Amino acid sequence: MNFSLRKRQTAAAAKKAGVEGMLITHLPDVRYLCGFTGSSAALVLVGGRSVLFTDGRYTAQAKAEAPGTKVVIATKPSVTAACEWLEAAGVRRCGFDGAHTTVAGLETMRKALSAKVRRGMFVAVGPVVARLREVKDAEEITKIRAAAQVGCELFDGMLTYLEPGLTETQVAATLEYAARLAGAEGMSFDTIVASGERSALPHGRATGAKLPKRGFVTLDFGVILDGYLSDMTRTVHMGKAMPDERDVYDSVLEAQEAAVAAVAPGVSAGEVDEAARSVLRRVKLDTYFSHSTGHGVGLEIHEGPRLASKQTQVLEQGMVITIEPGVYMPGRFGLRIEDMVLVTATGGEILTPSVKAWVEL
Ligand code: ZN
Ligand code: ZN
Repeated sequence: MNFSLRKRQTAAAAKKAGVEGMLITHLPDVRYLCGFTGSSAALVLVGGRSVLFTDGRYTAQAKAEAPGTKVVIATKPSVTAACEWLEAAGVRRCGFDGAHTTVAGLETMRKALSAKVRRGMFVAVGPVVARLREVKDAEEITKIRAAAQVGCELFDGMLTYLEPGLTETQVAATLEYAARLAGAEGMSFDTIVASGERSALPHGRATGAKLPKRGFVTLDFGVILDGYLSDMTRTVHMGKAMPDERDVYDSVLEAQEAAVAAVAPGVSAGEVDEAARSVLRRVKLDTYFSHSTGHGVGLEIHEGPRLASKQTQVLEQGMVITIEPGVYMPGRFGLRIEDMVLVTATGGEILTPSVKAWVEL
């Protein structure tokens, strides 16, 4: 990973925002900038210098993971030590990410300073690192591809396993066990298994409900591999479908494929969203599509860009996004189809090429 480039880019963005340096406390941002994966960290970037503050649990790990960064093992909270260092280093105007700093966190930062420098020291400069993280470099894309590939293999395994009478939690457990055996460090989020009427819940976490003899089963899951997350959704049908179930499935698939086809550098997130939404509008299902079309994914499950109605942000080569339209009819059924898509020089490449055609088990 090119940490020095990332640190330089962050420092340049800080300078542009009118601050002398940056205090980074959001752990995925710390990892992105210096490689450190521990649970206690504050990273300071000032001028050409970078200093990572952590605690005694991470002495060996911090040195191993963040070789290009000076490591300070603090005996007080990492963020307090970082703020004291900033004052001692003569910094008087430091940026921080307001989106990931709580009111209490900011209070802790201020309290670490002496009264004479406290005023005016910390300036919220917006999601500087989050913005950088939206565009993935080649190494990140390789890792994301690998995570997505594991996701596809897990889904293929599910196709031979699913049967009526299994509980949703059994399905989730089997999927997650297989994920661990395949090398996953964890799941990207609580696995969603929503069956029968519960498929109408867009975020139906697995419960004790049993897979029906006839009805949809939606699986939405992802694995973490080497820090990077995958995210995919497939919906299959147990038993023979009613004609309208099949029709709705075909419409969601058409919407999903239309949005994937719309992905290209220079296209706005809103245009991709509209590509999916307009297909569903045509068949009067758009009112049942109650969420946005997708999101960026990488070190975290929900990153920028957000693919929602009227979003003007423009897609760039190297972004990794999801395309996941769905239709949810309360009391009846619902379904969603989700792929991860890499924005290439000319369009979009699906990273989760598992079968999307109608599956009846
Ligand atoms: Zn998902
Ligand atoms: Zn998603």
